[in-house]
Amino acid sequence: AGPASHSGPGHRLITVEDYEPLIGAEAVERIQKKAQQISDVHIVNVNSTYYGGGVAEILSSLTLLMNAAGVQTGWRVIEGRPDYFSVTKKMHNALQGEDINLSELKQDIYEEVVFENAMRMHLDHDIVIVHDPQPLPLIRHFRKKAPWIWRCHVDMTRPNQELWSYLAPFIEKYDAVVFSLPEYAQKLTTPQRFIMPAINPFSTTNKQLSEDEIADRFAHYGIPTDLPLVVQVSRFDKWKDPQGVIDAFKIARKEVDATLVLIGNVATDDPEGQEVFESLCHCAEERIIILSVPDSALVNALQQRAAVVLQKSLREGFGLTVTEAMWKGVPVIGGDVGGIRRQIEDGVNGFLVESVEEAAERIVRLLKDKKLRERIGANAKQSVRSRFLLTRLAEDWLDLVGAFEP
Ligand code: UDP
Repeated sequence: AGPASHSGPGHRLITVEDYEPLIGAEAVERIQKKAQQISDVHIVNVNSTYYGGGVAEILSSLTLLMNAAGVQTGWRVIEGRPDYFSVTKKMHNALQGEDINLSELKQDIYEEVVFENAMRMHLDHDIVIVHDPQPLPLIRHFRKKAPWIWRCHVDMTRPNQELWSYLAPFIEKYDAVVFSLPEYAQKLTTPQRFIMPAINPFSTTNKQLSEDEIADRFAHYGIPTDLPLVVQVSRFDKWKDPQGVIDAFKIARKEVDATLVLIGNVATDDPEGQEVFESLCHCAEERIIILSVPDSALVNALQQRAAVVLQKSLREGFGLTVTEAMWKGVPVIGGDVGGIRRQIEDGVNGFLVESVEEAAERIVRLLKDKKLRERIGANAKQSVRSRFLLTRLAEDWLDLVGAFEP
């Protein structure tokens, strides 16, 4: 058996029961039953960063909820040199549609680092779940006794074909592939499943903050609250189009007064973040605040207090930042791409946009119309409650793992 879920003073795991006020007693019971049915299964997740980005966010919450439900679920992070993460970031970009020069040197670095990780990982679990392309080739180095699942979180609308041909033989060694959306399905011999991510409403990023807590975070970073806040929360990544956000805000400001806050962090497996951040710094001016800080409570405070949240992505596997803001009852203006499309129904619980100009127009419209903000925000919160809370994600995984058990 794993460690007790109530250990140490003041520490307690969030359990499925804790979600009862949000999802109802029937759902709680159903999920608990499914968990009991696989309580002897030992699961391990492998990814490439403990911090920064949606995958780390999901794993940190999901692994704890699964353990609280009695399913032993571990999490390992592969280690790598900077040149390895430079290669894997290029692969990530290529899966989202960019070109890549897939030289032998790059393949060598990638495969060698994964081989070295495999040597020290000793994976002998009942289910192995490998996240994203970074650790993908691990499977080559194990005598497979258990089902292995590749969980790909990226926007697979148009993967670069050269890279795909290189990765496909690794992928096809797996027993199943899980993408975020059905439209990401690929030509593969491996069975494909689709599971959308979800958020933990009790995490530092999402729990309800008091007015004092919000004021404290804002004072700490010198964020003014005299004008409405327009916010985008994102890793500093070109796919999140931070420059487009700034351009849209500048257009909108000709008609409405507001403060823009762009907050981002740099994931440990994302070597391009610092560069993107620095490229934006010259845009900072009065009423445009650009912050690179690892502070989930600040993210929460900004999402909670924002009049409008943007997520003007050009590609987006799913987009947890959209879910997080919607959960706080805030209208989100999102790029009409990937997972954002699946969360926002245009004009109902948010807005979908395809250009800087459209984004600017929606900012103006929302800032001028409090009733519209309230209506859209209420619909947004309701759609997250019914579709994107962590218990739904846990149940999807319990179903998938359960299907592998005899
Ligand atoms: N995030 C954060 N601090 C930041 C920027 C992002 O904690 O400065 C979190 C954000 O709240 C979300 C995750 O990182 O939970 C990003 O996930 P998403 O799916 O939106 O995008 P990804 O980074 O995985 O592409």
